[in-house]
Formats: sequence, C-alpha cells, structure tokens
Amino acid sequence: MNNLKPNLLKILFLSTILIILNINAQEPGTKLYIIKTESLRAKPSDLGSDTVESLIPGDEVTVVYVEESLTGKDRDALVRIKTAEGKEGYIPFLSLSKKKPKITTPVIRSIIVPKKLYVTADVLNVRSGPGTDSEIVGVVRRNDLVEIVYYSDKTEFINGISDRWAFVRFGTQGNGYVFGGFLSENESVPPEPGYDDSIVEPETPAIGSEFYVRPAKLQLRKEPGSKGKVIDSVSQNTKVKVIEHSEKKELIAGSFNLWVKIEAGSDKGWVFGGFLSISSEKPLASDRLDKVFINPLRDGTYRRSSDYGERVHPVLKTRRFHSGVDFAAPSGTPIYAAADGVVDRTMKSNGYGNLTIVKHPNGLFTYYAHQVKFGTKSGAKVRAGEQIGYVGTTGMSTGNHLHLEVRDGFGGSHFNPDNYIYFPEKNN
Ligand SMILES: [Zn+2]
Repeated sequence: MNNLKPNLLKILFLSTILIILNINAQEPGTKLYIIKTESLRAKPSDLGSDTVESLIPGDEVTVVYVEESLTGKDRDALVRIKTAEGKEGYIPFLSLSKKKPKITTPVIRSIIVPKKLYVTADVLNVRSGPGTDSEIVGVVRRNDLVEIVYYSDKTEFINGISDRWAFVRFGTQGNGYVFGGFLSENESVPPEPGYDDSIVEPETPAIGSEFYVRPAKLQLRKEPGSKGKVIDSVSQNTKVKVIEHSEKKELIAGSFNLWVKIEAGSDKGWVFGGFLSISSEKPLASDRLDKVFINPLRDGTYRRSSDYGERVHPVLKTRRFHSGVDFAAPSGTPIYAAADGVVDRTMKSNGYGNLTIVKHPNGLFTYYAHQVKFGTKSGAKVRAGEQIGYVGTTGMSTGNHLHLEVRDGFGGSHFNPDNYIYFPEKNN
C-alpha cells in the first residue's frame, strides 16, 4: 500500500510527457521517427490501400498533416508524412515518435515489388510530370501493363474520376506519369455505346414525353453538352416536350442523366435532362453546369462555419487538416443528397458521430457527419435533393452543424467540396 502513491505519481508524470510528445507530434513540419516496420499507404485507408514505400524503425519522416479519425482519438488517426526521399503517404499515428528508437537487432527493409496495373483507356498519354499540362513522353494502350513506381500527391478530376497521378514504368525502357484513374487491376473490354443504369434509374427522358423545367431559367443550347452555344431560355415550370436525346449519361448538378432536345412552343434546343422533372414541384436553384453536385442544404437554412484545409481543431485545439466543409444549422435541419447515388453506409463513429456516406455514379462519395438522426438506410437508392438526414452535433463537435466531405471511396482521398458543389453564399 505504501508503494501506491509514488507509482501513481510516476504514471501521472509519464502520461503528461506522452501527452506533450503527442501534441508536438501533430504539428505539420515536425520531424519524427518510425518506431515499427510500417507500410506507407497511398490513401488514408486501412482497407488495402496501395503501398508506396516500406518504412523501418529509425527512418526520419516529416509530418504533412494528421487526418481526422473515425473514433476521434489521435491513437487511431493516420498521419500524412513525407519521407527523406520526398515520397508522401499515410501511416498510423502510433508508428511515430519524437524520439529516435534504439535499434538492437538490424531490420531488413522489404523491397516493394512494383504493382502491375492494366490501362483502361483506349489511348493513354504518358507525361513528363504529374498533370495534363506536362509534355507527352509516350503512349500506352488499353490493357497494356504498367508498373507503379509511386503515386504523386497531385490529384485531378478527369472524365468524372478523381485520382492521383502515378509514376509508371512501361515496355522495356519507358517511364513517366499517367493519370491513375485510367489504371485497373483487371483487363477491360472497350465500352459498348449506351449508358449504365446500374446505380440509379433517372426519370427517363423518353422521346415524346412531357416534363417541367426545374431551374428559374433554363438555357437552351444549339448542341448537347456544356459547351453547346446558348440560343434561348425557358422559365421554371414551363411544360416542354422531349424530341431527341443523347446516348451517354453524365453526372451534372447532382443528376445522372442524358442530354435532351426539347420543344417549348416555337423554341427548340438541348438541355441537360436533370433540369427537367415529371413533377412541377422539384425546383432547382440554377442550371449551373460546372459543378457535379448540388448543395445538400437549402438556401437560408445554414451559415458556413469552416472551410476545407488546415486549421486549429475546435475540440483538440491543435493543428489538424479539416477534410470537409462545415455549415452551422439548427438541430433537425434537413440534409439532402448532393447527387443521385446509393447509400454506401450509415454508421455511428466517435469522431464523425452519425455519419451517412453516399456513393455516386462518377465514383465519388459524399459524407454527411454529426447528424442528430439518420434519414435513410444503407443500400438505399437516392436521388439528388432527396432528404437523407438531419443536422445535429453527434461525435466530436462543438455545436449543431453539417460536416460535408467529398472522397473517392470509403477511407479514400478527400477533396475540397468547393470544387464540386456550388454554395451560393461563397460566390465561387
Ligand atoms: Zn468539419
């Protein structure tokens, strides 16, 4: 019994030291050491993300930022780090220390065998740098095998796919960067003309059928597509008749739909099918074509409270990367799906609280966190603008708000929602 007090003091002292070490460990730019053999992962996911590099105890790395964890606890978080060779990726928080580990037995670094992937595009340019503005240094074709050397940090949105650029080796001599969204573990067959109805069944704009215009003003175009010349416009709830439609669906303004040629009185022109509805009660704020998703909150029900990017976490009081956008709104404010899709899951997490994740036909996922209660179920097919939940303050949160994220999978890379959604109050 006499020993109890000094032991308690010792524990208290040690845990204080550990807390101080961990707080310092979160600061971007801090140099830390790897304390256990670890795989550097390309994406912030435990679910079999590609390994970029093998790390061994004693390797010195630099903190780029700490991810938010599903449990809200640091020990469960992943940290984005940079190696001495400049490679970036994610490793568990617990595999890092401020103190250089004492190495008693030598550890052999496992050699990463480059992963071979198939090209899924008919023709894919290989470039000198990670980006479409870089010089073309070669070409690979559908089902050619390329070897992934590493993934760059540069992410892009091309043909409805968000992915990063991969440095690859191909043929006998060639190497360079290709867009990762056109690589797959499986061989592919060229796509058939037509479209994929597997995710959602839109209101089919059948030729001869009648629809109502959803936005306040809908621009009529000479040709189908966002680059089609605007020749006229029709106003909200005008009844229009479909006289022709395109063959391929696109995800625009939340709707996975076709381009249709319509007739309204003497006016004729092409419009995006998602801006039409068989009901006259489905208004849309605008007919903007440059954003794929719609705002999941109704105008006037919220106030933007935090942007995407690095910030001081309101609960942890340390610098954290904020992987989404926050909108303060009263408890129970309706949340609507940002686009057509399928509910990937609804889950309870200590960090995100009641979290709904929706998978969209362009491969992106939207996350709706901290809800007071769910408004949908896993597996449900949802349409853009359909209610899926209610604003709340569950999980790690200081007040009622919607935390909204855009990712390329469950535990995938996150992207700035402002690049995908038009929020009227931000004028972007
Ligand atoms: Zn947030």
